[in-house]
Amino acid sequence: MKNRIQLGSVLKARCPSCHKGSVLSGVITIRPKCTVCNYNFHPEPGFYLGAMMVGFLLTAMVTVPPMVFLKFMGVDRSILILFPFLEFLFVGTLIFFYSRVFWLHLEYRMTHRLDGHDSGDSQDK
Ligand SMILES: [Zn+2]
Repeated sequence: MKNRIQLGSVLKARCPSCHKGSVLSGVITIRPKCTVCNYNFHPEPGFYLGAMMVGFLLTAMVTVPPMVFLKFMGVDRSILILFPFLEFLFVGTLIFFYSRVFWLHLEYRMTHRLDGHDSGDSQDK
């Protein structure tokens, strides 16, 4: 249980360590550290570039299957071409936002055990 990424915590954009502090200050800015447990949200320079990979994957997952479906439904080609742009207006921001939070949680899960911490504690500084 403790070794999994907690989806609820990702969806609420909470700290991967204590699940209480908010990752964000304002709407899109990521805080330097957790306000509750002081966990570092910027482990290294350019850390969030990796989130682009998550973003690409999510974008492909929400774009390709509906496109294939629309194609087989015989939808007009102009709608088929417009679809990804319309879709991006609605889910693009969400993907941009959640790919970074998910990336942070992924990093926490991957490195936390390597650091020699016990799972799930929030005592570490
Ligand atoms: Zn925290």
